[in-house]
Amino acid sequence: MRTEFRNAERLSLVGQMAASITHEIRNPMAVVRGFLQLMKEKSPDELDHYYRIVMEELDRANGIINDFLSLAQNRDQEKEDCHLHDIIQELSPLLWADANLRGQSIELKLATAVPNMQLNPKEIKQLILNLCRNGMEAMKEKGVLTIETKRSEDDVELYIIDTGIGIPEEERGRLFEPFFTTKRKGTGLGLALCLSIVQRHNGTIAVDSEEGKGTVFKIRLPLRAYAQSVLPSSSAASAASAE
Ligand code: ADP
Ligand code: MG
Repeated sequence: MRTEFRNAERLSLVGQMAASITHEIRNPMAVVRGFLQLMKEKSPDELDHYYRIVMEELDRANGIINDFLSLAQNRDQEKEDCHLHDIIQELSPLLWADANLRGQSIELKLATAVPNMQLNPKEIKQLILNLCRNGMEAMKEKGVLTIETKRSEDDVELYIIDTGIGIPEEERGRLFEPFFTTKRKGTGLGLALCLSIVQRHNGTIAVDSEEGKGTVFKIRLPLRAYAQSVLPSSSAASAASAE
């Protein structure tokens, strides 16, 4: 009974997502179709402009499919004992290359007291990458993106800080909605994916922003799961017998 209920629930979620993704992909397809029709009658000079729009819309449709797949996959994947800083270091070359191309820079402020944790490294990589890309996209040349970690009593905190355009207050409540985007080529799925990754790690994500100054995304990842995994065997046994 219970499984049936879950399946039905899942099916309706898949149905809802399918409806929105169909809508979101039809939009760029309609634009591409319209512009291809227009291009038949245009001079070579004008063609260049239309060509760029067609390519952008195709990239957008492709981006939606990629992000949507990430959102649909990765579920219930195993977590492993790993270090958040190792994941950040692995991403560094990619982030630095991206920042370089934009004339921006990246600063790392990694706390020394951060211990190993139970994480899904693939998902955490995606989380950091999405937040950093958003940060870079919000900044002009010379912008600085900071990745900072802190250790508090029960959690590790991860901050992604940019010196970009900021987020208007009226938009802040909608950021994590699937398909909410203010970008021409955006998919609006990046932060929805970030939220689902953080939730799968029993963490929280919050945003603080000032228009014209920049934005801070703060993620808390609890250490509790890790603490349980290193319980001495005697306490593990007593915890089990108490059940
Ligand atoms: P996308 O990047 O494809 O637009 P996201 O889900 O990653 O989708 O982000 C949704 C929206 O949130 C963006 O379009 C942008 O308006 C806003 N946003 C996210 N991160 C930032 C940031 N660091 N600075 C300013 N705006 C941001
Ligand atoms: Mg994004």
